[in-house]
Order: sequence, then structure tokens, then C-alpha cells
Amino acid sequence: MHIRDFELGNLLRPGKQSAWLDIGRRPDGGNWRLPLLTVIGAEDGPTLLVLAGVHGDEYEGIAAIPQVYRETKPQDLRGRLVMAPVCNMPAYEAAQRSSPIDGLNLARVFPGDINGTITQQIAGWLCQKLLTRADFLIDLHTGGIAYELPTLIGYAHDDGELGQASLDAAAAFGAPVMWGHPLPLPAGRSISAATSMGIPSLYSEAPGGNGCDPDVVACFRDGVLNVMKRLGMIHGDLNRRRLTHHLVGDGNLDTVIHAPVDGFFQREVALLENVKTGQRLGKIVDETGVESAQVDADQDGVIIMLRGIPRVKAGDGIAHITQLLHSRI
Ligand SMILES: [Zn+2]
Repeated sequence: MHIRDFELGNLLRPGKQSAWLDIGRRPDGGNWRLPLLTVIGAEDGPTLLVLAGVHGDEYEGIAAIPQVYRETKPQDLRGRLVMAPVCNMPAYEAAQRSSPIDGLNLARVFPGDINGTITQQIAGWLCQKLLTRADFLIDLHTGGIAYELPTLIGYAHDDGELGQASLDAAAAFGAPVMWGHPLPLPAGRSISAATSMGIPSLYSEAPGGNGCDPDVVACFRDGVLNVMKRLGMIHGDLNRRRLTHHLVGDGNLDTVIHAPVDGFFQREVALLENVKTGQRLGKIVDETGVESAQVDADQDGVIIMLRGIPRVKAGDGIAHITQLLHSRI
């Protein structure tokens, strides 16, 4: 079925369905398809949309979603659970962050365009067919191959109703780090599209890398189930990780400390380390080991992101500092 013909409201209730929806033509024939796992509860309730694989090299969310699907029984569910484990199939097949077809980053084109390029079409259909039907969004990311972040849950940090719903769900999710972002959120993300529609949302990050860490998968699985409990969709106690840091900052990893020159980045600080303005974070060396530039902290705060791939080109993001709201709440 093409996604244009899909209607969430037509799914059987109660019921559970795994489907593949066509989105666009592949250059080699056949279609780009979106896997979609849905559980429609026996009782009315909220619709929770869970996305993963928006970036094609971020694996733990992709692994967590089928676990949540297996554990959720329609007869025990209030509302609708709608999950797309691999949103960006072209990037996933290429094992890279952005699409090899049009070069676009899916997390920069929301709300998308169903008549645009394949990445814009994916965002457009996700918004039109799924996000507009949702009461809450969780978008599961990790740092992927290029970036390392602590396992965290990000939310809109705001006194309004949407911010409070986002904060409440972030606390329920139960990741070791919470990271709040004052509104407006950076543009083009699923969570900024959700916010503009008045839908509260969360997103995750994690160390990433090439593999799929089972502890992070378990944290994401438990996190989604915890949010379902907090939203009244299922019963049960929350199963949370101990919170070590509650951070606040803009969360825009497009505006970070950049590599001043090409070379090989060697870090001298760790994730979640406290640093002072001007403190040395690492250096860039050439291939003979000679230091060609030093990288310094641009503000006081906590290291929230470090470059995962040592080889850098001038302008690549290599570190990001954010602020501690409070620790050990
Ligand atoms: Zn991502």
C-alpha cells in the first residue's frame, strides 16, 4: 500500500499490525518503503508516535522499537501506539546519517514536502499521515558514527503546557541525563514540527558508534514503556535509570565548536566533564603527530558532545558545551 492510502483510523481495534508502506520509487526499481508497527488498544486513549532511524547510522532506537511492539498487547493498551523503526531507509541501507539519494538530512527538512525529493517526501508523509494524528512524539536518535553523546532524553524546556508535558514525560522516560531546550527549538527536526502543531515531544541521544549497545536499547525500550505508563496507556511501575545530570541549552548540534583545520582530533576531556571557558579540550594533529591546532572551550559548562570520528575537516563539529540545571535531582 502507498502511504497516501494509509489511514490510522482504519486499523482494526483492538489489533496489532506490522506493515510496509510505499513512499517513492527507487532509482533501481521497486519502492522505498516505511516499516510501520501499530498496536491499537481496546480502549480509547492517547496516540503515541515513536520514530527511529531518522538518521541511517543510529541503531539502538531501531532495535528498541520491535521490543516495545512485542511487549505491548492490544487488550492491555489504552489508545494507539504507532512506531516507525526505520524512517530514513535510503540512509539506513547506506549506513550513513543523511540520504545518499538527495544528500539531505531528514532531521533538517521537517515538516517536509510530499512532492519534494525522497527525504522531503518521507518527512512530509510522516507529518501528514502520522504526526498530525499523534498526541505525543518520541524520536529515538543516537550520536551515530560521527558524534558521541551521553545516553539522554531531550525535551522542550518551557513553562507553558507543552513544555510541562514534555518535562513530565522526560522525567518518566528515565534516561541517566535529561537535556532541556528553551523554545523555539531549532528548525527542521521532527520535534520542532511537533511543537509547531502543539504536540509535546521527546528525543533521545546516546553514544552511538558503529554498533548497537544492548544497554542503550534497554534504556530506550524501558523509556518508551515508561512514557506510555505516564500517559495512562498501560499500567505498571516506571523502570528508570538513575538520573545523574539535568542539563539545559539550545541543543543545536549545528552550532558547536568546530575544527579550525583539517587533521586528526585527539580529545583531552570526557563526556559530561565540567569545563571552563578557554580550557583545552583537545588538539588537532597532522598525520605525523605534530599538533596543528588546539581546541578550547567556548564557555563554562558540561561537555555534552564530542566528535566520534578522529579524522576531521576544517569546519566539522567536534565538541559542544551545555549548562547544568542541577545534578542528582
Ligand atoms: Zn540522529
